[in-house]
Amino acid sequence: MSDVMDAAVMHGPGDIRFEQVPRPQCPGGGFVLRVDAVGLCGSDIRNLTTDSRRGDYPHIYGHEVVGTVAEVSSGVTAYEPGQRIYVYPEAHCLRCDYCRAGHHEHCTDVESYTTRPGGFAQYIAYTAKRVERGATFTLPEGVDPVRASLAEPLSSTYACVENINVRLGDTVAILGAGPIGVFLAVLSRMRGASKIILIDVAQERLDRSLAFDIDHRIDSDTVDPVEEVKRLTGGLGADKTISANPTTAGQQQALAMTRPCGAVVFFGGVPEGALTEIDSNAVHYNSLLIRGHYGANSMQVQRAFELAIDPVFPAEKFITHVLPLGSIDEAIDLARSGEALKVVLQPNPEKE
Ligand SMILES: [Zn+2]
Ligand SMILES: [Zn+2]
Repeated sequence: MSDVMDAAVMHGPGDIRFEQVPRPQCPGGGFVLRVDAVGLCGSDIRNLTTDSRRGDYPHIYGHEVVGTVAEVSSGVTAYEPGQRIYVYPEAHCLRCDYCRAGHHEHCTDVESYTTRPGGFAQYIAYTAKRVERGATFTLPEGVDPVRASLAEPLSSTYACVENINVRLGDTVAILGAGPIGVFLAVLSRMRGASKIILIDVAQERLDRSLAFDIDHRIDSDTVDPVEEVKRLTGGLGADKTISANPTTAGQQQALAMTRPCGAVVFFGGVPEGALTEIDSNAVHYNSLLIRGHYGANSMQVQRAFELAIDPVFPAEKFITHVLPLGSIDEAIDLARSGEALKVVLQPNPEKE
């Protein structure tokens, strides 16, 4: 096996070079994965195009990884060469207070994926700590690794709709028609929501969502989304509203379009330091529940994987582009423009 590999290496904000780097050595007690598919996430785009590491470059990002075990350290029995797995990017300790309370996403001893080289490369190494903690899932025979890579972005959206108990008869409004917003819409429908309203400032993204079973689409660039949601709900507003976009305006609109006793979720992060002005009297008099959302607990991670690989889940409609890793710049443009819904990269040529 060659001791170099292809990788998409970030040398600075927006400076991503497809180049050859040393292939990672197998860590003692760990294993090396040949990357079959790696999704391009909105957070990857933000990290790759801003000074996300405060000058600490070069770095390889990529956290939606599915691959084939290529090398295993002696003594490791949990994995064997040839086994195809999905690796959840964070390995929870399962021992801290949050883990024991079922909130693994707030693990205080998490092995974070941002500290080590990621999956925008032909190979990725995992340490003994990962072997000990797991959070890897074996793909059944015949499951497409590209489809399985959706398990990662699906996990947090799966957790969100479960945590706020989207249920039969609910009206759900979602601000943001990127992949996350559309995941939330599809999952809300699966859970029985009767009316799903998808809102975005870009008509192009709304058009992309036409492939999915969504009841109403609102272009908030031309129509007041609060008025429109009220109109579509007989003046009441949505039962559950999820802000899945990076703006403070979206969070304000979410509050204003939710009916009394409804729930509002701040799913998408806003730029660091940005503050959202809130009419706290409206929250008070309308008995609104505001909650944040981040990540998923270990069981939700597992169930999201099981759903991603289940034929009942319309993965093929989400994955609009599959490109070789060398086309990462094009992939970023496609995702940013809204032309692509979800782009998955393949660092290695597909095996027959
Ligand atoms: Zn992701
Ligand atoms: Zn923990």
